[in-house]
Amino acid sequence: MLILGVETSCDETGLALYDSAGGLLSHVLHSQVDLHALHGGVVPELASRDHIRRVIPLLDQLLQQTDRRTAEIDGIAYTRGPGLAGALLVGAGVARSLAWALDRPALGIHHMEAHLLAPLLEPEPPAFPFVALLVSGGHTMLVQVAGVGRYRLLGESVDDAAGEAFDKTAKLLGLGYPGGPALERLARQGRQGVFRLPRPMTDRPGLDFSFSGLKTQARNLIRRHEGTEDAAADIAHAFQEAVADTLAIKCRRALTDTGAGRLVVSGGVSANGVIRTRLDDMARAANAEVYYPRLDLCTDNGAMVAYAGWCRMQVGECDGLDFDVRPRWSLASLQPPAAD
Ligand code: AMP
Ligand code: MG
Repeated sequence: MLILGVETSCDETGLALYDSAGGLLSHVLHSQVDLHALHGGVVPELASRDHIRRVIPLLDQLLQQTDRRTAEIDGIAYTRGPGLAGALLVGAGVARSLAWALDRPALGIHHMEAHLLAPLLEPEPPAFPFVALLVSGGHTMLVQVAGVGRYRLLGESVDDAAGEAFDKTAKLLGLGYPGGPALERLARQGRQGVFRLPRPMTDRPGLDFSFSGLKTQARNLIRRHEGTEDAAADIAHAFQEAVADTLAIKCRRALTDTGAGRLVVSGGVSANGVIRTRLDDMARAANAEVYYPRLDLCTDNGAMVAYAGWCRMQVGECDGLDFDVRPRWSLASLQPPAAD
């Protein structure tokens, strides 16, 4: 079964072809980072317009790279939500129209389900059940995963997502957008222990996160040490340490609470090297295994959408004739794959 995946939920246009026999054939991506960097954050209307410009040329490029024709596609999966309404509509519109023209099934996919299944594209995939930590620009959540579509939300951020906190703190430090990678680079020059920021919500039970206070404390430090040489790098270092420790503490708690021996980590923030090392160390101590998607599949991409599409379409699940996108959509409301 050859599945085309289309991702347009935010600021990346991603397309991929997943073949149930051959695995991921190829994925292509256009990141809008340069476009939004001028404005210091994602501008929804610009995102939608850019998706429109990019999606068909990217499809042509994907078909050329894989030496496939549209007639060979057996099904089309697209991101139905959550995300920016206008951006989602571009991918949904293209995917559904193409499916209609080719007389093939289409299926709208939950973006976070795609993220949490992404590590299953790797050569040594995790077995179910596992705990998933999803850390991106829009979400921070811990999910107990018993199988495809069998998700229990263990905890999530009550305010900013981890990636959002990275981006906002980076902005306060005068770094560009997106701030995560820039902050990680600056933190490498920072010294251990010069500043210490709290590990929010780790001193009470539960698996929810809160990152907005961390950003405020970083702002206070930046103001207090304005003009001090090396302060920016030391603050970036302290911020990153606080996020890494907080994520590791909560993941360990989630593994203990659920009795799971496997942790899957996905989403843009999981590209962070310090966070990866901290989670690896935690898992070793907890006698658990950690799984990440390869770096280019950590951030938004079409490959994870194609794969999630295959997981569901292989048993015959597909959209009806009605049409919508879901800018807000709870992951826990999903059901296991079922034929329609
Ligand atoms: P996503 O929402 O999954 O597309 O991922 C984008 C988010 O991941 C943005 O908030 C980025 O700042 C963040 N991000 C990407 N790379 C890193 C990194 N190396 N360290 C921290 N955050 C990162
Ligand atoms: Mg993105």
